[in-house]
Amino acid sequence: AKADGRGVARFFDPSMQDAADRRAAFEAAMRDGLSLGQFRLFCQPQFDCLGNLTGAEVLVRWQRGHDLLGPDHFIGFAEESGLILPLGEHVLKESCRALVRWEGDPALGHLKLAVNVSVHQMRDPDFALRVGHILEATGAPAQRLYLELTESVFAEDLQEITGRMHQLRARGICFALDDFGTGYSSLAYLQRFPLSALKIDRSFVRNIGIDPGSSSIVEAIIGLARKFELEIVAEGVELEAQRSFLAHGGCSSMQGFLLGRPVPMAEFEHAYSAAGVG
Ligand code: C2E
Ligand code: CA
Ligand code: CA
Ligand code: CA
Repeated sequence: AKADGRGVARFFDPSMQDAADRRAAFEAAMRDGLSLGQFRLFCQPQFDCLGNLTGAEVLVRWQRGHDLLGPDHFIGFAEESGLILPLGEHVLKESCRALVRWEGDPALGHLKLAVNVSVHQMRDPDFALRVGHILEATGAPAQRLYLELTESVFAEDLQEITGRMHQLRARGICFALDDFGTGYSSLAYLQRFPLSALKIDRSFVRNIGIDPGSSSIVEAIIGLARKFELEIVAEGVELEAQRSFLAHGGCSSMQGFLLGRPVPMAEFEHAYSAAGVG
């Protein structure tokens, strides 16, 4: 410990106490929010290159009074505090309930639902068990559930992570590698992990047609995915030029503001179920 005046001053710094108080208050608010059902699932539609709806990505929001907070405001904190485990469990459970609700619906019954999973959840030795319990409790069709992992899982104990992935894969759950190309993923991982899909990060999609380098990266990723027999999902499609480039390039599916924004789960169900039936 520092013996100088500054160290002592920092120790008694009242603003640090404020920060600690704020963290404690935020954590309490998140806990309350979880028990009050304030964490709501939004869905963003995904389409194949012909424009058919193929599924949706679940994106969580915190309805805090009149404020609707996006994940960037609380996922980081949830990870630091450990609240990501109950939050992630809530998102998975609600997603599985949706899959069950959709069964038998002519427009929704075949859709896949992609759920973001934090590396902190994958680190949990009981993760596969927890997911198994949720599947059994809800009766959800596991083969329509995709779990999206980011490349940060590759910094973990690879044997543990692959073991967990294989356990879930054996139940029928698929894995997608999110934000592909932005992290420290090595091509070797594409072989070692039981992956079903790669998601091309928005940063590459954004520059299609603007930066020839990005277009080439997208083409290379699609080629790579084909070699490894992986589906390819492009995110952040905002322009028709991007959509057509990706569709002609052989992208399996895509999502983005051009095709559909994230909307509350009930709105998603209403919009697409009605469209399919009517
Ligand atoms: P992500 O997995 O990369 O999700 C895609 C993000 O891009 C979403 O932001 C989505 O709203 C946004 N997006 C979709 N289409 C477009 C587009 O055309 N243009 C632009 N500019 N943006 C688009 P969102 O909902 O704010 O989520 C941010 C991140 O928070 C997600 O990034 C994901 O990493 C994380 N996240 C969201 N929900 C969950 C969750 O339930 N659990 C965990 N662990 N993380 C989550
Ligand atoms: Ca994602
Ligand atoms: Ca992503
Ligand atoms: Ca992203």
